[in-house]
Amino acid sequence: MPKSIRKAAVIGSGVMGSGIAAHLANVGIETLLLDIIPASLLPEEEAANATLEDAKVRNRFASRAVEKLKKANPSPLYSPAFADRIQPGNVEDDLTKLGEVDWIIEVIVENLQAKQQLYSKIEQVWKPGTIVTSNTSGISIKEMAAHTSDEFKAHFLGTHFFNPPRYMKLLEVIPGEKTSPEISEFMKSFCEKTLGKGVVLAKDTPNFIANRIGTYGLLVTLKEMERSGLSVEEVDAVTGPAMGRPKSATFRTLDLVGLDTFVHVAQNVFDLLPDGSEKEVFTPPQILKQMAAKGWIGEKSGQGFFKKL
Ligand code: NAD
Repeated sequence: MPKSIRKAAVIGSGVMGSGIAAHLANVGIETLLLDIIPASLLPEEEAANATLEDAKVRNRFASRAVEKLKKANPSPLYSPAFADRIQPGNVEDDLTKLGEVDWIIEVIVENLQAKQQLYSKIEQVWKPGTIVTSNTSGISIKEMAAHTSDEFKAHFLGTHFFNPPRYMKLLEVIPGEKTSPEISEFMKSFCEKTLGKGVVLAKDTPNFIANRIGTYGLLVTLKEMERSGLSVEEVDAVTGPAMGRPKSATFRTLDLVGLDTFVHVAQNVFDLLPDGSEKEVFTPPQILKQMAAKGWIGEKSGQGFFKKL
C-alpha cells in the first residue's frame, strides 16, 4: 500500500475524467490522463460537420475537456499553473506507464463489459501496491473485477465522484467483497484529507446510495413531465428554488451529466432489480430517446435540454 499518492492515472478523459484529473493536479498529484482516442482534437471545421450520433466523434467532443486543462486562460475549474502536472495520452500506447503510478482511477463509459476488458488489460501491467478504483455511477464492484486475480481484487474498490468533481463535496467509497480493509480505510482517509471530500462508505448495491435516489427522482420527474405535458420551464419552476433546490435542478443537471451516461445508469439498475420492485421507473423516458436520436446528449455535444453557448 502506498504511504501517499504522488502519481495517479485517470483513464477516460470525458466529462468526469477530465474534471477528476484537474482536481488531482490542483492538489499536487502528477496525473496521467489516458483515453482510447488521441488527446489531439478534431479541427473546428471538421467538428462542425460531424454527425453527433457517431460515438467516436462524440468522444472526441468529450476530449475537448483535456484541452481545457492546457489552456492559458485562468478559470475557477482549471488552474493553468497546475496544467503541466497533467500528461494526456492514449491507453494503448501508454499502458506500461500504469506500472509507475500509486493510484489508477477508471472513468470510462458506464458499461460492464468495457470496464471488465479494461481491468484485464490494466492487470497485465499492474504492480501490487497500486490502488485501482472505478468512478462507476452504480455498476457492481464485484462484477467489474470478476475476471481479475484475488490480489488485484484486494486493491480494487469504487471511488464515486460527483459532477463537477472539483465542487461536489460528496464522494462514495465502495469496497468490494474482496477489497482489503486497509486499502478501503487508506482511500477513505486520503479522499477526505487530501482531496477535501466528504466520504460516505457505501455497500456494493445497484447505483450505491446517492444515484439510487437521484436517478429515481430525475426519472420520475421526466415521466411526470411527459404524462402531464409540462414544459422544461414549468418543471424547473416547481423543482428548483421553490423547493429549496438550485435553479434548474432537473434539466441543467441532466445536461451536465450527459444524457447518454444517464440512460446507461438507469438501464443498469433496471437490469438488476427484481420484477415487482420499483424497476419500471428505471426505463428511459421517450424524451431522452428522441433527444439521443438527434445527438442532443447534453453539454458535451453542445446541445441538451439547453444549448451550450
Ligand atoms: P463520458 O462519455 O463523458 O467520457 C467517457 C470517456 O471514456 C470518453 O472520452 C471515451 O473516449 C473514454 N473511453 C471509453 N472507453 C475507453 C477505454 N476502453 N479506455 C479508455 N478510455 C475509454 O463519460 P463520463 O460522464 O465522464 O462518465 C465516466 C464514468 O463516470 C462512468 O462510469 C459514469 O457512470 C461515471 N460518472 C459520471 C457522472 C456524470 O455526471 N457524467 C457522475 C459520476 C460518475
